[in-house]
Order: sequence, then structure tokens, then C-alpha cells
Amino acid sequence: MRLESINPATGEILDTHDGWSDERLEHALETAATAARAWRERPLGERAATIGALAARLRERSEALARLASLEMGKPIREARAEIEKSAWACEYYAEHAAAMLAPTPVGTDATRSYIDYEPLGTVLAIMPWNFPYWQVFRHIAPTLSAGNTLLLKHAPNVPQVAAMIEEVVHAAGIPEGVFTNLPIDVAQTAQVIADGRVHAVTLTGSERAGRSVAALAGQHLKKVVLELGGSDAFIVLDDADLDRVLSQAVTARFQNGGQSCIAAKRMILTPGIAEAFAERFVDAVARLKVGNPLVDDTQIGPMARADLRDELARQVDATVAAGAHCALGGQPIDGPGFFYAPTVLDHVEIGTPAYHEELFGPVATLIRVQDADEALDVANGSRFGLGASVWTADEARGEQLARALESGCAFVNGMVKSDPRLPFGGVKASGYGRELGLQGIHEFINCKSVWIK
Ligand code: NDP
Repeated sequence: MRLESINPATGEILDTHDGWSDERLEHALETAATAARAWRERPLGERAATIGALAARLRERSEALARLASLEMGKPIREARAEIEKSAWACEYYAEHAAAMLAPTPVGTDATRSYIDYEPLGTVLAIMPWNFPYWQVFRHIAPTLSAGNTLLLKHAPNVPQVAAMIEEVVHAAGIPEGVFTNLPIDVAQTAQVIADGRVHAVTLTGSERAGRSVAALAGQHLKKVVLELGGSDAFIVLDDADLDRVLSQAVTARFQNGGQSCIAAKRMILTPGIAEAFAERFVDAVARLKVGNPLVDDTQIGPMARADLRDELARQVDATVAAGAHCALGGQPIDGPGFFYAPTVLDHVEIGTPAYHEELFGPVATLIRVQDADEALDVANGSRFGLGASVWTADEARGEQLARALESGCAFVNGMVKSDPRLPFGGVKASGYGRELGLQGIHEFINCKSVWIK
């Protein structure tokens, strides 16, 4: 297998890498198995301190790391820097809290002493995507390694340099060889790794298609799986919302990372008293977004990460417009080099169209008009996906009531959906299962062992 690093802003091939042979993979699996024993024996405090050191290494190398992400997958450089900072925050958070989160929990029973002990599960395979090529990996590294597990990374094939850089930084922080290993392997080899007896669990962030396939394979081999899949988050704007505040957040919520985020506000659901004003001002704001070279500091929208992803987005937009949606802005790829797609707003999107039902993973906003808050909730919950959602209203109690009725892994009132190391993150329905981050995230790859002493 050849891995190609392509600059999506120009289409230029930056670098090519050979994937690993089966022999090299076997050696890595053996090294990981050996390293796992020593790592789990290390005192938790020492492991956590090493994760803390990782935060410092990330910050030291921030500019180089950020630049590499912008070059390989097209993220605007300012967002890439923020991603490194957030990754460092996750490391710091678990460095500080892992010991309390994993302290044995006493439970009163008929024993003299009984308690729950939190032991590492073993070696976890992380299959990761390109859209937040650092954050998705570090939000897993920080809790999983703190807990005493070891990690194998199968990163997306279009970010091979980022993957190699992650491994370099992790080792520079003092995490030993074998405790974290980047595996440049293809899907067939990934299947072998899932089946391997030296691997105990799998986590995947990516598409629903990949999730179904990996979950089936892991099920066949009885391996624990966490899946963080796609989303089509609702962004419900009620008549009484503060329009100025909603608008600035709406643009960020939909267009950050070029719209290539699982928790982007993919469906804006508007009630009649605000829909017209929102649509008009939102289109104006989106039209002002600066599209261009992601390495330039004030660029707000870079290219899409790959040509095939842009083609798929174009198909979804074309089909939605052909079915009667109003294209209020954009609506086509941008001519010239690179994989740019014009920031787009589709209004009056109706049931039965791709923009209504599918995940649109790019710079395209979907506006759906509804009669009232009840219909907004029905439309929000009508999706196959259930990752995040937000509600915007001056009536906090009403907002909270709706938030609690939303079928999603998280629901925000008057704030855009975001992940936070302190809160669990994950979805329901076709958005996957299991949680990352927070207390629940560190407990995913743990043997919660009941210890009973007479
Ligand atoms: P994929 O889900 O195909 O890729 C994500 C990761 O999963 C990659 O490392 C990929 O490796 C791996 N993968 C895919 N299939 C398998 C498999 N059968 N076994 C093992 N590993 C597998 O996403 P794409 O990059 O193709 O993007 C397609 C769509 O997925 C997007 O348009 C978007 O809708 C969604 N997506 C959602 C993300 C999220 O954050 N939830 C992130 C990325 C994509 P390989 O490429 O080698 O197959």
C-alpha cells in the first residue's frame, strides 16, 4: 500500500509513504504486547504525569503541528492551532483527574470489604479520521493511556505525516515505544489487528459505513467497541431567540473546519417568527466568509480534504436543489486548483432530500422551516443520527425542556455544540455508541472488577 499526502488546497502531492508489510505489523503487535505489561504496572501517578508532559510537548511544537494539518487536510491554520491547544487541554485534564476517576470505589455488601477496582483492558486499536487529525487521537490517548492501556493507531490514509508526527510527539513526552504505535496499514490489515488476540478493544471515529463494518468484525471476535460516527445535528432557532447572538454562533457552528465536523449544525430548524430574518442575515454572513489558502492567517474556509468528498457533497447539493430547495448562496465547486467548494446555503429544504436526511460533510448549511417548536422537535428527532443538538431561545426553561426531549448524545441551550474534556461525548442511534471524554470516557476501556473479601 502507498499512502499519499496531498495538499487539498493545490492538489499537489507532498509526500508518499509505503504502508507496512504484514511482518512489520506482526513485530509492532508483539512490541505492544510486551510494552503493555510494563505500562500497566507503572503507578497511575507516573502514567498521568507522562500524559501531563505530553501537553507541554504539544504546546512546544504547536506551530509545526498546526501547519502540517493545514497542509495535509486543509484546515484553516488558526483552527489548527486551536486544535493543538485543545488536545493539550485534554492531556492536562486527565493528568490531573485520572487518579480520582480510577480510585477504587467501596461498595457495602455482605463482605467485610468489597469494592470496584478499575483495571486497564489491554491494547486498544484506535481507527481515526482526518477531520480533526490531532484532537480525535489525543482525546483518546489521554484517558486510555492514563488508565494503563496501550494504544495502536490506524489513522486515515490522507494524513500520514500527521500520524507520524503524533507518534514522534508522544514518544518525546516519555511514553515508551510499544505503548503507543502508529500503524500505516490498510483496511485488510486493520481487520487482522481487530482479530488478533493481543488486541482487546477498538474505538472508531468516522462514517456510519466504517462503523457498521468495524462493529461487525469486532463483534465476531468479541471485542469491546466504541463508535463515534456521523451526525446531522439540529440547530433549533425559536421566535424569541436573540438573533445577533444566534447568527454569529450559527456561522461558526456550521462552517468551522470547512463544515467537516461530526457535530456541525447541519440542520437549522427555524420557527416562522424568526425564519425570514435569520435566513437573510445568515446568507449575508456566510457570503462574507473568507475562502482561500488555509495557511494564511485570516482564512476562514479552506479546501475540502479530498476530491471524492467534494464530489459527494456536490451530488448531495445538486439532488437537493433538483428536488425543489432554494439555493440562496453558492451551490457549486470553486473552479481552479484544489478541492474548494463554495460556502453554500440551501433554504426551504424539504423532507425526502439528501440535505434533509443525509450527513452533508462540507461547507453547506441546510435551512428547514417549521410551524412551531413542537414541529421543530419532531424534525430534529426525525433524523437517523443522534450526536448533538442545540436550541436557541430567550425562554431558558422552554429551551431546557426541548433539550431534554432531543434524541442526541448532548444538547446545548443558547450555545453551539462542542466537545469538552470534562463532559462525556458520543451519540445515540446511527451516530454510534459509547462515550469519549469525561469520567465515562476513561471508564470505557476498563475492566470494572468487583473485589469481595470475607
Ligand atoms: P471513513 O469512515 O471511511 O474513514 C474514517 C477512518 O475509518 C479511516 O481511518 C478509514 O481508513 C477507516 N475505515 C473505513 N472503513 C474501514 C473498515 N471497514 N475497517 C477499518 N477501518 C476503516 O470516512 P471518510 O474519510 O471516507 O469520509 C466519508 C464520510 O464519513 C464523510 O463524508 C463523513 O460523512 C463521515 N465522517 C465522519 C467523521 C466524524 O467525525 N464522525 C469523520 C470522518 C468522516 P481507510 O480510509 O483506510 O478506509
